[in-house]
Amino acid sequence: MDLVLVSTPIGYLGSGRGGGVELTLASLVRGLLERGHRLTLVAGQGSAPPVVDQDLRLESVVGVDQPSWQHLERQAAVVIPPDGLLPRLWQRALALGHEADAVLNFGYDWLPLWLTPQVPQALFHLVSMGSVSTVMDEQIAALACWDQRRLAFHTQAQASDFSLPAPPRVVGNGFDLSAYQFQSGADGPLGWAGRVAPEKGLEDAAAVAAALGEPLWVWGMREDEAYAKRVEAGVPPGTIHWRGFLPTDALQKELGCCRALINTPKWNEAYGNVVVEAMACGVPVVAYNRGGPGELVQHGLTGLLVPPDDVDALRQATVRAASLERLACRRWVETHASQDVFAERVEAWIRAGLETEDGSIS
Ligand code: UDP
Repeated sequence: MDLVLVSTPIGYLGSGRGGGVELTLASLVRGLLERGHRLTLVAGQGSAPPVVDQDLRLESVVGVDQPSWQHLERQAAVVIPPDGLLPRLWQRALALGHEADAVLNFGYDWLPLWLTPQVPQALFHLVSMGSVSTVMDEQIAALACWDQRRLAFHTQAQASDFSLPAPPRVVGNGFDLSAYQFQSGADGPLGWAGRVAPEKGLEDAAAVAAALGEPLWVWGMREDEAYAKRVEAGVPPGTIHWRGFLPTDALQKELGCCRALINTPKWNEAYGNVVVEAMACGVPVVAYNRGGPGELVQHGLTGLLVPPDDVDALRQATVRAASLERLACRRWVETHASQDVFAERVEAWIRAGLETEDGSIS
């Protein structure tokens, strides 16, 4: 197929501002190329192509970043800044979409959802977050009523946030496993990874490390500086070791040394890339039984799940996690979350959505 992939408008690829979407897009590009598709990636200026390949074209678009829905009030109106990147990405994508089989959207935005029933181009949306905004909930529900085949989700837990007339298409996520090295040593530090922002709940992981009298290694972008300082001030000095935002290769080397990854989101995390990246390196994950991580962690096999927000249960599970079989973590990722199986699932979703004779629930 000829496919147009439209990146997130909240930052160029490589900025880290796109969170997990950046990695999702990169592995899907590689996976789809391996399956023989021709791709055009439309992304904000400054974006690096995930791979150099004759069947991948990068179209850079200049514009002002879109604010993330995640940090707006639930009742907030749709806002597009002057010189906004979002409408420009879509102007380019729609022009390219005339010649393509399908256009795949990776941004969590109102505009492309709204456009979908209005245009002849075949627009598909991989929804990257759970419910954070009323106007987005409404638009996802409206599109689902028009033709739910145009929507896919990362997990069942994420999809359950939305009003959908039919069971959701769940495609999971995928990773280039050659980029993650399995490490068998189980006596390393405790780790935490993610955007440093309130919805990620770093304070609970820090509290566990403090209670155990151990350091916590933290990787990720300090998106909310005031929050990062508050979390640090809440635990004894030296508890948090800030490791910075690292590229995948450096991240996986350090992450793979960990005894356990503590994952503590306070929101309905759509997937939880860092959970799977840790497991790919052989690191068991201790997580709240909420959202994507609650589906990704196989309790007692690849990690331990505890009731949401129960810090004491999290502490006890963190002690127990080191006895889990590290190879089981890697094996689970190989079977369920490689870039190949992800690309296969996405391809199946698009093909089903392009079929003309029914399947439609309009
Ligand atoms: N990440 C990274 N370097 C770091 C820490 C995190 O590249 O030092 C990436 C990580 O690989 C993951 C993303 O940041 O893809 C975080 O994604 P996740 O799905 O965990 O959360 P999101 O930010 O999308 O809410």
